[in-house]
Amino acid sequence: MKHPYLNEDHEIFRQSLRKFLEKEAYPFYEQWEENRLIPRSFWTKMGEQGFLCPDIDEKYGGSGVDWGFSVVINEELERVGTGTIGIGLHSDIVVPYITAYGTEEQKQRWLPKCVTGEIITAIAMTEPGTGSDLANIKTTAKLDGDHYIVNGQKTFITNGIQADLIVVAVKTDLQAVPKHKGVSLLVIERDAPGFSRGRKLNKVGLHSQDTAELIFEDCRVPKENLLGEEGKGFLYLMEKLQQERLLVAIGAQTAAEVMLQKTIEYVKSREAFGKPVSQFQNTQFKIVEMATDIEMGRAFLDQLIAEHMEGKNVVTKVSMAKWKLTDIAKKVASECMQLHGGYGYMEEYEIARRFRDIQVGAIYAGTNEIMKTIIAKNLGL
Ligand SMILES: Cc1cc2nc3c(=O)[nH]c(=O)nc-3n(C[C@H](O)[C@H](O)[C@H](O)COP(=O)(O)OP(=O)(O)OC[C@H]3O[C@@H](n4cnc5c(N)ncnc54)[C@H](O)[C@@H]3O)c2cc1C
Repeated sequence: MKHPYLNEDHEIFRQSLRKFLEKEAYPFYEQWEENRLIPRSFWTKMGEQGFLCPDIDEKYGGSGVDWGFSVVINEELERVGTGTIGIGLHSDIVVPYITAYGTEEQKQRWLPKCVTGEIITAIAMTEPGTGSDLANIKTTAKLDGDHYIVNGQKTFITNGIQADLIVVAVKTDLQAVPKHKGVSLLVIERDAPGFSRGRKLNKVGLHSQDTAELIFEDCRVPKENLLGEEGKGFLYLMEKLQQERLLVAIGAQTAAEVMLQKTIEYVKSREAFGKPVSQFQNTQFKIVEMATDIEMGRAFLDQLIAEHMEGKNVVTKVSMAKWKLTDIAKKVASECMQLHGGYGYMEEYEIARRFRDIQVGAIYAGTNEIMKTIIAKNLGL
Protein backbone atom coordinates (compact mmCIF):
# COMPACT_ATOMS: atom_id res chain seq x y z
CA MET A 1 0.00 0.00 0.00
CA LYS A 2 1.33 3.45 -0.87
CA HIS A 3 1.57 6.16 1.75
CA PRO A 4 1.32 9.75 0.44
CA TYR A 5 3.89 11.11 2.94
CA LEU A 6 6.60 8.59 2.08
CA ASN A 7 9.13 8.81 -0.75
CA GLU A 8 11.91 6.61 -2.06
CA ASP A 9 14.23 7.49 0.85
CA HIS A 10 11.68 6.19 3.34
CA GLU A 11 11.30 2.96 1.35
CA ILE A 12 15.08 2.40 1.25
CA PHE A 13 15.13 3.07 4.98
CA ARG A 14 12.29 0.54 5.46
CA GLN A 15 14.23 -2.14 3.59
CA SER A 16 17.37 -1.66 5.68
CA LEU A 17 15.34 -1.60 8.91
CA ARG A 18 13.52 -4.80 7.88
CA LYS A 19 16.84 -6.50 7.20
CA PHE A 20 18.09 -5.38 10.60
CA LEU A 21 14.94 -6.70 12.32
CA GLU A 22 15.15 -10.02 10.46
CA LYS A 23 18.59 -10.48 11.99
CA GLU A 24 18.21 -8.83 15.40
CA ALA A 25 14.51 -9.10 16.37
CA TYR A 26 12.41 -11.79 14.63
CA PRO A 27 14.61 -14.77 15.70
CA PHE A 28 14.58 -13.65 19.36
CA TYR A 29 11.07 -12.31 19.73
CA GLU A 30 9.55 -15.47 21.19
CA GLN A 31 12.33 -15.61 23.78
CA TRP A 32 11.71 -11.96 24.68
CA GLU A 33 8.04 -12.79 25.16
CA GLU A 34 9.00 -15.60 27.53
CA ASN A 35 11.50 -13.40 29.38
CA ARG A 36 8.87 -10.66 29.68
CA LEU A 37 11.52 -8.15 28.55
CA ILE A 38 13.30 -6.81 25.49
CA PRO A 39 17.01 -6.73 26.38
CA ARG A 40 18.84 -3.40 26.59
CA SER A 41 21.30 -4.70 24.01
CA PHE A 42 18.52 -4.53 21.39
CA TRP A 43 17.85 -0.90 22.30
CA THR A 44 21.51 0.06 21.85
CA LYS A 45 21.68 -1.86 18.55
CA MET A 46 18.65 0.14 17.35
CA GLY A 47 20.42 3.29 18.51
CA GLU A 48 23.66 2.45 16.71
CA GLN A 49 21.75 2.11 13.44
CA GLY A 50 19.88 5.40 13.86
CA PHE A 51 16.53 3.68 14.48
CA LEU A 52 15.76 5.55 17.74
CA CYS A 53 14.43 9.13 17.72
CA PRO A 54 15.45 9.76 14.07
CA ASP A 55 13.61 13.10 13.99
CA ILE A 56 15.82 14.65 16.69
CA ASP A 57 18.08 17.47 15.58
CA GLU A 58 21.59 16.47 14.48
CA LYS A 59 23.13 18.66 17.17
CA TYR A 60 21.73 16.25 19.79
CA GLY A 61 22.84 13.15 17.85
CA GLY A 62 19.66 12.52 15.84
CA SER A 63 19.26 12.44 12.07
CA GLY A 64 16.92 15.45 11.89
CA VAL A 65 14.60 13.65 9.45
CA ASP A 66 10.83 14.01 9.06
CA TRP A 67 8.30 12.01 11.10
CA GLY A 68 7.62 9.70 8.14
CA PHE A 69 10.74 7.76 9.19
CA SER A 70 9.24 7.26 12.64
CA VAL A 71 6.05 5.95 11.04
CA VAL A 72 8.12 3.40 9.10
CA ILE A 73 9.92 2.32 12.30
CA ASN A 74 6.68 1.90 14.23
CA GLU A 75 5.08 -0.10 11.40
CA GLU A 76 8.06 -2.41 11.07
CA LEU A 77 8.33 -2.94 14.84
CA GLU A 78 4.60 -3.73 14.97
CA ARG A 79 5.15 -6.36 12.28
CA VAL A 80 7.61 -8.06 14.65
CA GLY A 81 5.09 -7.88 17.50
CA THR A 82 3.05 -5.40 19.53
CA GLY A 83 5.32 -6.07 22.54
CA THR A 84 7.87 -3.72 20.94
CA ILE A 85 5.54 -0.77 21.64
CA GLY A 86 7.87 0.53 24.37
CA ILE A 87 10.42 1.51 21.73
CA GLY A 88 7.96 3.70 19.85
CA LEU A 89 6.81 5.08 23.19
CA HIS A 90 10.40 6.13 23.90
CA SER A 91 11.13 7.74 20.51
CA ASP A 92 7.77 9.22 19.65
CA ILE A 93 5.95 9.80 22.92
CA VAL A 94 8.34 10.50 25.80
CA VAL A 95 11.38 12.05 24.14
CA PRO A 96 9.19 14.61 22.29
CA TYR A 97 8.29 16.11 25.71
CA ILE A 98 11.97 16.90 26.23
CA THR A 99 12.40 18.20 22.69
CA ALA A 100 9.33 20.42 22.94
CA TYR A 101 9.46 21.66 26.53
CA GLY A 102 13.02 21.01 27.75
CA THR A 103 15.60 23.74 28.36
CA GLU A 104 18.78 23.74 26.29
CA GLU A 105 20.65 22.29 29.27
CA GLN A 106 18.10 19.46 29.67
CA LYS A 107 18.25 18.68 25.96
CA GLN A 108 22.04 18.49 25.95
CA ARG A 109 22.03 16.36 29.09
CA TRP A 110 19.48 13.77 27.97
CA LEU A 111 18.77 13.73 24.24
CA PRO A 112 22.07 12.29 22.90
CA LYS A 113 21.74 9.23 25.14
CA CYS A 114 18.06 8.82 24.21
CA VAL A 115 19.22 8.56 20.58
CA THR A 116 21.88 5.92 21.32
CA GLY A 117 19.56 3.87 23.54
CA GLU A 118 21.77 4.33 26.61
CA ILE A 119 18.79 6.12 28.18
CA ILE A 120 15.42 4.35 28.04
CA THR A 121 12.47 6.57 28.86
CA ALA A 122 8.93 6.18 30.20
CA ILE A 123 5.94 8.39 30.93
CA ALA A 124 4.04 8.03 34.19
CA MET A 125 0.56 9.52 34.35
CA THR A 126 -1.68 6.68 35.53
CA GLU A 127 -2.07 5.93 39.25
CA PRO A 128 -3.76 3.04 41.05
CA GLY A 129 -6.75 5.30 41.78
CA THR A 130 -7.01 7.23 38.52
CA GLY A 131 -6.35 6.75 34.81
CA SER A 132 -8.90 8.44 32.57
CA ASP A 133 -9.47 11.30 35.01
CA LEU A 134 -5.94 12.66 34.71
CA ALA A 135 -6.58 15.99 36.43
CA ASN A 136 -7.37 14.00 39.57
CA ILE A 137 -3.91 12.48 40.10
CA LYS A 138 -2.71 12.34 43.70
CA THR A 139 1.09 12.21 43.37
CA THR A 140 2.42 15.43 44.89
CA ALA A 141 5.62 17.43 44.36
CA LYS A 142 6.43 20.09 46.97
CA LEU A 143 9.31 22.48 46.56
CA ASP A 144 11.87 22.28 49.39
CA GLY A 145 14.87 24.49 48.67
CA ASP A 146 16.51 23.26 45.46
CA HIS A 147 14.49 20.07 45.27
CA TYR A 148 10.94 18.85 44.74
CA ILE A 149 9.86 16.22 47.25
CA VAL A 150 7.67 13.73 45.40
CA ASN A 151 5.21 11.34 47.06
CA GLY A 152 2.85 8.95 45.34
CA GLN A 153 2.50 5.88 43.20
CA LYS A 154 2.13 5.21 39.48
CA THR A 155 0.97 2.04 37.77
CA PHE A 156 0.81 0.34 34.34
CA ILE A 157 3.98 2.17 33.28
CA THR A 158 5.41 0.98 29.97
CA ASN A 159 9.21 0.51 30.16
CA GLY A 160 8.74 0.93 33.93
CA ILE A 161 11.35 -1.69 34.85
CA GLN A 162 14.09 -0.59 32.48
CA ALA A 163 13.52 3.17 32.31
CA ASP A 164 16.43 5.44 33.22
CA LEU A 165 14.41 8.62 32.88
CA ILE A 166 10.71 9.04 33.53
CA VAL A 167 8.48 11.99 32.75
CA VAL A 168 6.14 11.98 35.75
CA ALA A 169 2.85 13.85 36.03
CA VAL A 170 2.64 15.36 39.53
CA LYS A 171 0.47 17.83 41.43
CA THR A 172 2.46 20.95 42.35
CA ASP A 173 -0.65 22.86 43.43
CA LEU A 174 -3.39 20.99 45.26
CA GLN A 175 -5.62 24.07 45.53
CA ALA A 176 -5.61 24.91 41.79
CA VAL A 177 -9.00 25.63 40.21
CA PRO A 178 -9.67 24.01 37.82
CA LYS A 179 -7.73 21.02 39.10
CA HIS A 180 -5.76 20.44 35.92
CA LYS A 181 -3.92 23.73 36.47
CA GLY A 182 -2.11 22.08 39.39
CA VAL A 183 -0.46 19.43 37.20
CA SER A 184 3.24 19.69 36.29
CA LEU A 185 5.75 17.39 34.61
CA LEU A 186 8.94 16.35 36.40
CA VAL A 187 11.76 14.31 34.93
CA ILE A 188 12.78 11.69 37.48
CA GLU A 189 16.03 9.80 36.92
CA ARG A 190 16.74 6.22 37.92
CA ASP A 191 18.99 7.04 40.89
CA ALA A 192 16.73 9.66 42.49
CA PRO A 193 16.69 9.02 46.27
CA GLY A 194 13.25 7.76 47.34
CA PHE A 195 12.35 6.31 43.93
CA SER A 196 11.75 2.57 43.68
CA ARG A 197 10.02 0.20 41.31
CA GLY A 198 7.17 -2.00 42.42
CA ARG A 199 5.91 -5.14 40.73
CA LYS A 200 6.58 -5.99 37.12
CA LEU A 201 2.97 -6.52 36.10
CA ASN A 202 1.64 -9.77 34.70
CA LYS A 203 -0.39 -8.90 31.61
CA VAL A 204 -2.82 -10.71 29.30
CA GLY A 205 -0.62 -9.81 26.32
CA LEU A 206 2.34 -7.62 25.28
CA HIS A 207 4.49 -10.08 27.18
CA SER A 208 7.85 -8.79 25.96
CA GLN A 209 7.00 -5.22 26.97
CA ASP A 210 7.82 -4.49 30.59
CA THR A 211 5.06 -2.74 32.50
CA ALA A 212 5.55 -1.76 36.12
CA GLU A 213 4.49 0.11 39.21
CA LEU A 214 6.61 3.05 40.35
CA ILE A 215 6.83 4.28 43.93
CA PHE A 216 7.95 7.71 45.14
CA GLU A 217 8.55 8.11 48.88
CA ASP A 218 9.94 11.51 49.80
CA CYS A 219 11.74 11.25 46.48
CA ARG A 220 14.17 14.16 45.98
CA VAL A 221 14.20 15.60 42.49
CA PRO A 222 16.37 18.62 41.59
CA LYS A 223 14.17 21.56 40.67
CA GLU A 224 16.06 21.87 37.35
CA ASN A 225 14.24 18.66 36.36
CA LEU A 226 10.92 20.48 35.99
CA LEU A 227 9.81 20.25 32.36
CA GLY A 228 8.50 23.54 31.03
CA GLU A 229 6.49 25.62 33.49
CA GLU A 230 4.75 24.65 36.72
CA GLY A 231 1.00 24.17 36.27
CA LYS A 232 1.21 23.62 32.51
CA GLY A 233 1.71 19.84 32.64
CA PHE A 234 -1.87 19.02 31.71
CA LEU A 235 -1.72 21.24 28.63
CA TYR A 236 1.57 19.63 27.58
CA LEU A 237 0.02 16.18 28.00
CA MET A 238 -3.05 17.10 25.96
CA GLU A 239 -0.83 18.34 23.16
CA LYS A 240 1.53 15.37 23.09
CA LEU A 241 -1.16 12.73 23.61
CA GLN A 242 -2.20 13.33 19.99
CA GLN A 243 0.96 11.71 18.65
CA GLU A 244 0.63 8.93 21.25
CA ARG A 245 -2.89 8.14 20.03
CA LEU A 246 -1.79 8.32 16.42
CA LEU A 247 0.93 5.80 17.22
CA VAL A 248 -1.63 3.41 18.70
CA ALA A 249 -3.76 3.82 15.56
CA ILE A 250 -0.72 3.09 13.35
CA GLY A 251 0.02 -0.04 15.40
CA ALA A 252 -3.58 -1.26 15.20
CA GLN A 253 -3.77 -0.70 11.44
CA THR A 254 -0.47 -2.50 10.84
CA ALA A 255 -1.49 -5.39 13.09
CA ALA A 256 -4.79 -5.75 11.21
CA GLU A 257 -2.94 -5.83 7.88
CA VAL A 258 -0.55 -8.50 9.18
CA MET A 259 -3.36 -10.64 10.63
CA LEU A 260 -5.35 -10.51 7.40
CA GLN A 261 -2.34 -11.39 5.26
CA LYS A 262 -1.43 -14.37 7.50
CA THR A 263 -5.05 -15.56 7.48
CA ILE A 264 -5.33 -15.39 3.70
CA GLU A 265 -2.21 -17.59 3.49
CA TYR A 266 -3.66 -20.00 6.06
CA VAL A 267 -7.11 -20.46 4.49
CA LYS A 268 -5.55 -21.14 1.11
CA SER A 269 -3.38 -23.91 2.53
CA ARG A 270 -5.86 -25.55 4.93
CA GLU A 271 -8.28 -28.07 3.43
CA ALA A 272 -11.71 -29.21 4.67
CA PHE A 273 -14.33 -31.30 2.84
CA GLY A 274 -11.86 -31.84 0.00
CA LYS A 275 -11.13 -28.21 -0.81
CA PRO A 276 -9.18 -25.24 0.56
CA VAL A 277 -11.01 -23.38 3.33
CA SER A 278 -10.62 -20.26 1.16
CA GLN A 279 -13.15 -21.73 -1.27
CA PHE A 280 -16.07 -21.54 1.18
CA GLN A 281 -18.25 -18.54 0.55
CA ASN A 282 -18.31 -17.68 4.28
CA THR A 283 -14.51 -17.51 4.33
CA GLN A 284 -14.46 -15.29 1.27
CA PHE A 285 -17.12 -12.93 2.65
CA LYS A 286 -15.34 -12.62 6.01
CA ILE A 287 -12.02 -11.90 4.27
CA VAL A 288 -13.68 -9.40 1.95
CA GLU A 289 -15.35 -7.59 4.85
CA MET A 290 -12.06 -7.35 6.74
CA ALA A 291 -10.11 -6.27 3.65
CA THR A 292 -12.66 -3.50 3.04
CA ASP A 293 -12.48 -2.19 6.62
CA ILE A 294 -8.69 -2.33 6.53
CA GLU A 295 -8.41 -0.55 3.18
CA MET A 296 -10.74 2.24 4.35
CA GLY A 297 -8.86 2.47 7.65
CA ARG A 298 -5.56 2.81 5.79
CA ALA A 299 -6.89 5.64 3.61
CA PHE A 300 -8.13 7.58 6.65
CA LEU A 301 -4.92 6.94 8.59
CA ASP A 302 -2.58 7.95 5.77
CA GLN A 303 -4.43 11.23 5.28
CA LEU A 304 -4.32 11.84 9.03
CA ILE A 305 -0.56 11.18 9.30
CA ALA A 306 0.02 13.63 6.45
CA GLU A 307 -2.09 16.28 8.22
CA HIS A 308 -0.27 15.64 11.53
CA MET A 309 3.08 16.08 9.76
CA GLU A 310 1.83 19.37 8.30
CA GLY A 311 1.15 20.57 11.86
CA LYS A 312 -2.63 20.78 11.45
CA ASN A 313 -4.99 20.45 14.42
CA VAL A 314 -5.94 16.79 14.27
CA VAL A 315 -7.47 16.23 17.71
CA THR A 316 -10.89 15.08 16.47
CA LYS A 317 -9.55 12.90 13.66
CA VAL A 318 -6.86 11.35 15.88
CA SER A 319 -9.53 10.42 18.42
CA MET A 320 -11.63 8.93 15.59
CA ALA A 321 -8.68 6.95 14.22
CA LYS A 322 -7.66 5.72 17.65
CA TRP A 323 -11.04 4.26 18.57
CA LYS A 324 -12.11 3.09 15.15
CA LEU A 325 -8.86 1.45 14.03
CA THR A 326 -8.31 -0.34 17.35
CA ASP A 327 -11.94 -1.49 17.17
CA ILE A 328 -11.49 -2.80 13.62
CA ALA A 329 -8.25 -4.55 14.64
CA LYS A 330 -10.00 -6.30 17.55
CA LYS A 331 -12.72 -7.57 15.20
CA VAL A 332 -10.12 -8.65 12.64
CA ALA A 333 -8.22 -10.58 15.35
CA SER A 334 -11.38 -12.39 16.36
CA GLU A 335 -12.46 -13.29 12.80
CA CYS A 336 -8.94 -14.34 11.83
CA MET A 337 -8.67 -16.61 14.85
CA GLN A 338 -12.00 -18.21 13.90
CA LEU A 339 -10.82 -18.83 10.33
CA HIS A 340 -7.73 -20.62 11.71
CA GLY A 341 -9.98 -23.14 13.49
CA GLY A 342 -8.33 -24.93 16.43
CA TYR A 343 -4.86 -23.96 15.31
CA GLY A 344 -5.74 -20.32 15.86
CA TYR A 345 -6.05 -21.09 19.56
CA MET A 346 -2.54 -22.56 19.69
CA GLU A 347 0.40 -20.39 20.63
CA GLU A 348 2.45 -21.74 17.69
CA TYR A 349 0.28 -19.63 15.41
CA GLU A 350 0.90 -15.89 15.43
CA ILE A 351 -2.80 -15.10 15.43
CA ALA A 352 -3.06 -16.39 19.03
CA ARG A 353 -0.52 -13.85 20.29
CA ARG A 354 -1.99 -11.05 18.20
CA PHE A 355 -5.48 -11.81 19.51
CA ARG A 356 -4.16 -11.29 23.07
CA ASP A 357 -2.07 -8.25 22.22
CA ILE A 358 -4.67 -6.34 20.24
CA GLN A 359 -7.11 -5.88 23.13
CA VAL A 360 -5.09 -3.21 24.90
CA GLY A 361 -5.22 -0.79 21.96
CA ALA A 362 -8.75 0.12 23.00
CA ILE A 363 -7.60 0.81 26.56
CA TYR A 364 -4.31 2.66 26.67
CA ALA A 365 -3.42 6.16 25.45
CA GLY A 366 -6.93 7.17 26.58
CA THR A 367 -9.70 4.56 26.40
CA ASN A 368 -11.93 4.38 23.34
CA GLU A 369 -14.79 5.70 25.48
CA ILE A 370 -12.71 8.78 26.33
CA MET A 371 -11.98 9.20 22.58
CA LYS A 372 -15.73 9.30 21.96
CA THR A 373 -16.24 11.94 24.67
CA ILE A 374 -13.60 14.12 22.96
CA ILE A 375 -15.22 13.69 19.54
CA ALA A 376 -18.68 14.41 20.96
CA LYS A 377 -17.42 17.62 22.57
CA ASN A 378 -15.73 18.71 19.36
CA LEU A 379 -18.94 18.04 17.43
CA GLY A 380 -20.61 20.56 19.72
CA LEU A 381 -22.66 17.99 21.66
C1 LIG B 1 -0.41 -2.39 28.94
C2 LIG B 1 -0.66 -1.01 29.43
C3 LIG B 1 0.33 -0.05 29.30
C4 LIG B 1 0.12 1.25 29.80
N1 LIG B 1 1.15 2.16 29.72
C5 LIG B 1 1.00 3.35 30.38
C6 LIG B 1 2.10 4.26 30.47
O1 LIG B 1 3.19 4.02 29.95
N2 LIG B 1 1.93 5.41 31.18
C7 LIG B 1 0.74 5.73 31.78
O2 LIG B 1 0.66 6.77 32.41
N3 LIG B 1 -0.32 4.91 31.69
C8 LIG B 1 -0.22 3.71 31.01
N4 LIG B 1 -1.29 2.85 30.94
C9 LIG B 1 -2.54 3.22 31.59
C10 LIG B 1 -3.68 3.51 30.63
O3 LIG B 1 -3.46 4.70 29.93
C11 LIG B 1 -4.96 3.52 31.48
O4 LIG B 1 -5.21 2.19 31.88
C12 LIG B 1 -6.16 4.09 30.75
O5 LIG B 1 -5.99 5.46 30.53
C13 LIG B 1 -7.47 3.87 31.51
O6 LIG B 1 -7.37 4.27 32.83
P1 LIG B 1 -7.86 3.27 34.01
O7 LIG B 1 -7.16 1.97 33.78
O8 LIG B 1 -7.65 3.94 35.30
O9 LIG B 1 -9.37 3.05 33.72
P2 LIG B 1 -10.60 3.92 34.33
O10 LIG B 1 -10.33 5.35 34.10
O11 LIG B 1 -10.84 3.46 35.71
O12 LIG B 1 -11.77 3.45 33.39
C14 LIG B 1 -12.56 2.27 33.62
C15 LIG B 1 -13.65 2.22 32.55
O13 LIG B 1 -14.48 3.38 32.67
C16 LIG B 1 -14.57 4.05 31.45
N5 LIG B 1 -14.67 5.50 31.66
C17 LIG B 1 -13.90 6.28 32.47
N6 LIG B 1 -14.25 7.57 32.36
C18 LIG B 1 -15.28 7.62 31.49
C19 LIG B 1 -16.09 8.65 30.94
N7 LIG B 1 -15.91 9.94 31.26
N8 LIG B 1 -17.07 8.32 30.05
C20 LIG B 1 -17.26 7.04 29.68
N9 LIG B 1 -16.52 6.01 30.15
C21 LIG B 1 -15.54 6.28 31.03
C22 LIG B 1 -13.28 3.71 30.72
O14 LIG B 1 -13.37 3.92 29.32
C23 LIG B 1 -13.10 2.27 31.11
O15 LIG B 1 -13.86 1.46 30.27
C24 LIG B 1 -1.11 1.58 30.40
C25 LIG B 1 -2.11 0.60 30.49
C26 LIG B 1 -1.91 -0.66 30.03
C27 LIG B 1 -3.00 -1.68 30.18
